[in-house]
Amino acid sequence: MIIDGKAIAADVRAEIKAECASLAAKYGNVPGLAVVIVGEDPASQVYVRNKAKACAEVGFYSEVHALPASTTEAELLALIDRLNADEKIHGILVQLPLPGHLNETAVLLRIDPRKDVDAFHPFNVGNLTIGSPVFLPCTPAGVMEMLRRSGVDPAGKRCVVVGRSNIVGKPMALLLLAANGTVTVCHSRTRNLSEITRTADILVVAIGRAKFITSDMVRPGAVVIDVGMDRDENGKLCGDVDFASVAPIASAITPVPGGVGPMTITMLLRNTLTAWKRSRAC
Ligand code: NAP
Repeated sequence: MIIDGKAIAADVRAEIKAECASLAAKYGNVPGLAVVIVGEDPASQVYVRNKAKACAEVGFYSEVHALPASTTEAELLALIDRLNADEKIHGILVQLPLPGHLNETAVLLRIDPRKDVDAFHPFNVGNLTIGSPVFLPCTPAGVMEMLRRSGVDPAGKRCVVVGRSNIVGKPMALLLLAANGTVTVCHSRTRNLSEITRTADILVVAIGRAKFITSDMVRPGAVVIDVGMDRDENGKLCGDVDFASVAPIASAITPVPGGVGPMTITMLLRNTLTAWKRSRAC
């Protein structure tokens, strides 16, 4: 089975749009997302445009704050303070990476945790860790939604996560654990990686290495989730999993593109809706 992230994302977005419309009719306003980008990184500019477009499609208000690369930390923090206090804005997202002279940790810490729709603030990371999250980190939450809607329940399963970044691998492991999976996390220092990946009923890969996971590293019948967004030798978008060799032996697999990617922005929309609902206490 190919797990179609585009189709699942479209379903979830339709649900968000419908809920937004019905609550907006009742409360007279809509969820608002502010996206802050500093500098001219072309990839980041595309991500920011896509986020604004996705907001419009589901009926949210959004604003983009594009600041020059020369922006000082004090100027950026002052903008975040204004957005924290702005009643139209329920979610604030600072597009990473920031230019080197800006302290990412200080900037992310400044965002009001109630508006932290990326779920990167230590307050929200802590809530996730103790099992009472308000916002779920977008990419791992997207993976969980794909599993759920594909009828894959991690409970009691051996789950292997390859990658331990703060934005994907670690929260992914926590969400699988919360769903009662038996979770192993691997990273660049893991010995005998393929011995471990071959034990997985559910294998999630987020390492940023094109086509790294090959069929000999996968147990036949495993569910394989590929978070990677890489370029192959011809510059074509591909994942961390060698789809051509792994798809025939997996029971289900996500493609790249069209797998996890479309779910990430969708989960950002869901977090923004949640932030708005909490601000309205509904
Ligand atoms: P990251 O911060 O660079 O982390 C990569 C992780 O992979 C690290 O924990 C690293 O181990 C581990 N790793 C690297 N090489 C490895 C190897 N040979 N064997 C085992 N582990 C290895 O990357 P990230 O931000 O998590 O992103 C990972 C991938 O997902 C990238 O391709 C990125 O573009 C993609 N991504 C996609 C989405 C989406 O929406 N689809 C969202 C976010 C990221 P160490 O910790 O030991 O260094």
